[in-house]
Amino acid sequence: MQQSLQPFQEQRQQAWRVFFAPTILVEGSFRELLIRCGKSNCHCQNEPAHPVSRLSHWEHGKLKNKVVRVADKQRIKSLSDNYKNHKRSLSQLLKVNKKEHQLLKKVIKLKSVPYE
Ligand SMILES: [Zn+2]
Repeated sequence: MQQSLQPFQEQRQQAWRVFFAPTILVEGSFRELLIRCGKSNCHCQNEPAHPVSRLSHWEHGKLKNKVVRVADKQRIKSLSDNYKNHKRSLSQLLKVNKKEHQLLKKVIKLKSVPYE
C-alpha cells in the first residue's frame, strides 16, 4: 500500500516545486507569427511576411491578443514559459489527485468486510 502511493507523493512534490520557485509569470501564451501589413503594394499581399510576437490569453471567454514589443520579446517569452509550467503542474496535480482518489476508493473496498 505504502509503495503504491509513493509515485503520487513524488509527482505531487514535483508539481509543488514549480509553485514554490520564486519565479514571476505573465498570463498567456507567447507566439511568433507572420502577418500582412495591409499596404496595397507590399510583397506580403501574397504571403504574410512581417514577423510579430503576440501574447494571447483567454479573458471572459474571449481570446485576447497583445503585441509584444521587440525589446520585451525575450523576457515575455520566458515569463510565458513560466506560466505554461505552472499550468502544466496544476493539471499534473489534478491528474494525480484523481488517480489517488480512485486508488483510495479501491482501498476502501478492499478493507471492507461484508455484513450479512
Ligand atoms: Zn507588408
